[in-house]
Order: sequence, then structure tokens, then C-alpha cells
Amino acid sequence: MVKERLYYENVYKKTFKARIVDNGIDSEGRPYVILNNTAFYPTGGGQPHDTGTIDGVRVIDVEEVDGEIRHFLDGELHSKKEVEGAIDWERRFDHMQQHTGQHILTAAFVRLFGIQTVSFHLGKELVSIDLDVEDVTSEQLAAAEKLANEIILENRPIETKWVTEEELPQFSLRKQLAVTDNIRLVIIPDFDHNGCGGTHPSSTGQIGLLKILSTEKQRRKVRVHFACGDRVLQQLHRKNEALSAASKLLSAPEDGVKDAIERLLTSHHSLEKTLETAKEDLLSFEAKNLLDNKNGNIVKASFTDRTVQELQKLARLIVAENDSVIALLVAENEDRLQFVAARGASVGTSMKLVSTAVLPLLNGKGGGNDTFVQGGGERTMTAKELLNLMENTISY
Ligand SMILES: [Zn+2]
Repeated sequence: MVKERLYYENVYKKTFKARIVDNGIDSEGRPYVILNNTAFYPTGGGQPHDTGTIDGVRVIDVEEVDGEIRHFLDGELHSKKEVEGAIDWERRFDHMQQHTGQHILTAAFVRLFGIQTVSFHLGKELVSIDLDVEDVTSEQLAAAEKLANEIILENRPIETKWVTEEELPQFSLRKQLAVTDNIRLVIIPDFDHNGCGGTHPSSTGQIGLLKILSTEKQRRKVRVHFACGDRVLQQLHRKNEALSAASKLLSAPEDGVKDAIERLLTSHHSLEKTLETAKEDLLSFEAKNLLDNKNGNIVKASFTDRTVQELQKLARLIVAENDSVIALLVAENEDRLQFVAARGASVGTSMKLVSTAVLPLLNGKGGGNDTFVQGGGERTMTAKELLNLMENTISY
């Protein structure tokens, strides 16, 4: 079984010749072929499958089912016997870098702090491990990252060895193995011995670089996001673009962006407060102005584009200033009409008379009590017409 897996014989094999030994369609209707040997790595051990072509037809998924490797194709394969396979090397090498980087980072956490990794995820952009610990300090993260990069920079060989269960005790393994046949050890001398069926470069230097990017607390675990190889450059490029755009917008040097944002937020909050006070002052002034122009004991006014909250504030200010008046306010907002009616403490008329009379005419909804009502509905008339109707309901 192992001999047919060319990625074990030579992990750098990018093209190969093979014979089709079987083909079929899986339960989801996806066609696949099985070859007598293959360089395509199937999804497994936390490493995603390879992609590529078989005789020019795209291989979109590779899975191992009952010891056979199924190559799922997105087209029909016309060849009957000999075929030529080619794997997408960029994708594979990236997986080798991330996957092997994970071995090294995991081993670094074990060596330095005795912290075990419980799961590993190799995503399209980021890679993460879950550490079996409630919390890690930034010093621990920095130390693990530093050790991992030292191992990478020393360019140590990465060896693989097939061993039997009896031979296992000679090796000090990082964790217990789940398999008893075809045991494959991946060895970074004097650093890590681990059972793994994935693909790895022949030396640590080919990982290039490992950078921890962020951590995230999970339930009793810490997820550590990191990147290796080219992905570090992509991350650096993206963060650089974002930081330099922010720096330009703020007219601040890159290492002054945080301070500049803090200053901006402080000033923003203080402006908001000032604006709030100014609005209150303006409303008090407006209330007095409306009271100066009252007609009998009725104060009425209509507006466009004012929120019902503003109408409510204004009405309360008016009746607080003069307890013998009734305030009737209407706002026309796009296709809606909104109104408020309020009475001063020494007025006896119920404001519910107003809402009961006008709400049906607006197909609207509202609420309130004898002293204060508000409501809104469709713009079935002008604001001025509504105001007159409201006034009529309480004139006697
Ligand atoms: Zn591995």
C-alpha cells in the first residue's frame, strides 16, 4: 500500500505516470478514478488534499476510502490505460510548510512549557493549533515562536522512518500513536519525534519563517493562529497596506497610529457631548419661541424630517415651561406623518381624544396616556392638515 504512494517515496514528485485500475461514482454523484500509484496526497492528518490534473482533467478532491485513493475529477477522462498525473505544486508545498511548521510550533510549546496541542486546523489563509491550557502569556507565545524559528533557521534535516510497533520504545515520541501498522515517524533530530502520515520538506529551512498572529480563547483552550512560509509575506503585505493607509489618513507615522486614533476618539466623544448640550439649549430656545406665538392655550407647529424623540422632548419642554397650554406637534418624514400631543399640569382635556381621532385617518399606531400621546402613520394628508384636525378634536 505504501509503495503506491509516491509522495512517501519522493515528496517532491510533481508529475508521474500511472495506470487506471478502477473508476466509479461516489454517493454524491462525483466521478473518481483509482490509480496503481499516485503522487496525490489525500485529505488526512490535518493536511488538505492535493489538486492538479490527470491527463489534463482537473483533480478537485482526493480522498482515501477503505485504503484506496480516490481522485475526483471535474471532467471525463478519455484515456484507458496509461495516464500522466501532475500535482499543483504551489498548493502542496504551502501545505508542507504549514503542516511542518505546526509540528515544530507544537513541539516548542511541549518542550518549553509542557503544553500539549489538542487540534490543528489548516485553513486557506491561516493555520491554527488549539493548546490544552486555559491561558498563555505573551512571553510564552514569544518564546515558542522564537524556538520554532531557531529550529527553522538551523535547517535541520527532517527524516521519516517506517517502524514496527516493537521498535517504537527506542524513540521518545511527543504523543501516543493511534495506529499500530505502517507506523511512520517524522523526526527532527534532537527536537521532535512524532508519528505522522503527512508530507514534509526534507529540511526545516524550507518552512522559511513562522509567525504567531493572534490568539483566541476557546472553552478551556487557547487557539493560536499562525502562518508559515509565503503566508507570512502575504500577511505582512496586507497588514502593511492597512497600516500605511491608516497612517496616511491620520497624518501620523505608522508607530503613532494607535495614539492618533486614541486622540481622535477622545475628541469625538467630547464633540458628541458638546453637540448634545447645544441641541438641548436649542430645543429650550425653540420651546420658548413657540410659546411666544401660542394661539389661546394651544401651541402648534409642524416640521419636516424630525425624529419623534425630538418632538417628544420639545413637547415636554413646552408644557413644563407653561402648565396651562397644550402642545401639538407634527413631523413629516419621507412618506410618514408623526405626531405628539401634550398637556400642561393644569389642563384637564385628555390627549387620548387626539390620538383616537387621528390614528385611523393615518392607518397608524400610537400610544400614551391622558397627559401625553404620540403616534405615526401614512402620509394621507399634509402636516398642516393633520395639525388642524388635531386642534379641532380638542376645541370646544
Ligand atoms: Zn506531519
